[in-house]
Amino acid sequence: MTNGTKSTVSARLAVDRFEIDEEQSHIVVDQELCRSTGTGRRIIAVCPAGVYSEKDGEILVDYAACLECGTCLAVATPGALTWTYPRGGFGVTFRQG
Ligand code: SF4
Repeated sequence: MTNGTKSTVSARLAVDRFEIDEEQSHIVVDQELCRSTGTGRRIIAVCPAGVYSEKDGEILVDYAACLECGTCLAVATPGALTWTYPRGGFGVTFRQG
């Protein structure tokens, strides 16, 4: 910030722009593999945008908030998570300020 005040993570995220693909999620989880391998617990813990949550044993995915950082892929057991970049024109646009 230019006025000398510290910015928070949420304040920085608020300046980013998200074009949401209402028709297609770019993230799909295999519920059984997420549960049996511990992937669900790990992706909830590491995602900086809070995309993943758990309710009644199911992993919920708020893909619209994804920052496209790839961290969840790094901790997921192969096959438990299918992640691709959003289709052209969709996803996050980062801004400075
Ligand atoms: Fe979260 Fe990053 Fe994975 Fe998107 S790519 S769901 S922001 S960890």
